[in-house]
Amino acid sequence: MKYKNSRQLFERAQQSIPGGVNSPVRAFKSVGGTPVFIEKAKGAYLYDADENKYIDYIASWGPMILGHAHKPVVKAIQQYAKNSTSFGAPTELEIKMAELIVGMVPNVDLVRMVSSGTEACMSALRLARGYTGKNKVIKFEGNYHGHADAFLVKAGSGLATLDIQTVPGIPAGVSNDTLTAPYNDLASVVQLVAENKNQIAAIIVEPVAGNMGCIIPKTGFLEGLRELCDEENIVLIFDEVMTGFRLSAGGAQERLGVAADLVTYGKVIGGGMPVGAFGGKREIMEHIAPIGNVYQAGTLSGNPIAMIAGYTTLKELKNNPEIYLSLEAKTTYLRKGIDEVLKKSTLPFVINQFGSMISIHFSDKPVTNFEEASQCDIALFNELFHFMLQHGVYLPPSAYESWFLNDALAFKDLDKTIRLFKKFIKSKK
Ligand SMILES: *Cc1c(COP(=O)(O)O)cnc(C)c1O
Repeated sequence: MKYKNSRQLFERAQQSIPGGVNSPVRAFKSVGGTPVFIEKAKGAYLYDADENKYIDYIASWGPMILGHAHKPVVKAIQQYAKNSTSFGAPTELEIKMAELIVGMVPNVDLVRMVSSGTEACMSALRLARGYTGKNKVIKFEGNYHGHADAFLVKAGSGLATLDIQTVPGIPAGVSNDTLTAPYNDLASVVQLVAENKNQIAAIIVEPVAGNMGCIIPKTGFLEGLRELCDEENIVLIFDEVMTGFRLSAGGAQERLGVAADLVTYGKVIGGGMPVGAFGGKREIMEHIAPIGNVYQAGTLSGNPIAMIAGYTTLKELKNNPEIYLSLEAKTTYLRKGIDEVLKKSTLPFVINQFGSMISIHFSDKPVTNFEEASQCDIALFNELFHFMLQHGVYLPPSAYESWFLNDALAFKDLDKTIRLFKKFIKSKK
């Protein structure tokens, strides 16, 4: 019984936790089977409650970019914890964190720390509405911006995985103000803006999408949004919760050379602790309380333990820009290896990669938006997922999720993964 303890833990978890998990995708509902319960992790490897070891391609959905239990991060947390874990009053560490962020990413003059990506996006939208005095927001099908009411319309991975079409509990009055367009389809955004003249407060977009697998913005798409927002006085929000500090030290803005008005962060920014942030141009950010009247707050915002974990991670990324080259080289190596193997099979497939984000869609056409992503062979992905899990490779348990590489991965781990793809193909014959 390879997963005996995990099975028992899952049984027990369901008695006191809805569905046995604290975030839905962890439940393995779409891939089937029992989630493995993790006991610890080190570097690129996860260890479950049954003493199985896995090569980790999730990295906690991004944050563990330097690898698990990274020594400087663990040490910093231990040191700071001695001085108490929360004050609810300002600390110098928060200034250092803000200064570091402002110095790393373009177009962020002021930054406010929060405790999750959801909070960051929710607050950025409120600010955009408060700043413009307009209500409507345009988002893209298959993009996820956390679970706040306004964003749970055609929201990608988590909902797609569970096949949830509309979310009970969200008042129509809220979702009516959320307009959606297909990703990479500038013309339809132009049309939406024209049909809702002077009513759009913000356009929010994942500059590289990671919540319908990895999907790359077409040339001109983000640039077109930028121009449109300038012409129509709309706040352009880049949701960099996934891409921030992952695609480069300055995130997607820097990597793609397109400027946003507001940017949201999460995942990597907390180095594995619950952290999010939103920031942007001074003129807009000064509408936030206590300077302005757009209220936003948090008892544990800027929490010292969360700050030191994030600060230590970001500082290391800033001081060692070669990490990004190494991460990308590893991801490209993995893509090429898998590509070569799958090409020799009859399986239709598309591998999308951008920097250290990568995913496989089993499809015979390019995948550039949510509709195309949902036409892929999900059953085949689920088979692949379980095959890999059985053989010690932990992929995201959903065909709609991007994989995230971490810098602790060694080439031998990538080689093992590629070899397993060969084995998987063979098992299909
Ligand atoms: C994960 C994610 C969020 C939500 O962040 P949480 O910390 O889970 O609330 C928002 N936007 C994007 C693009 C994400 O990938």
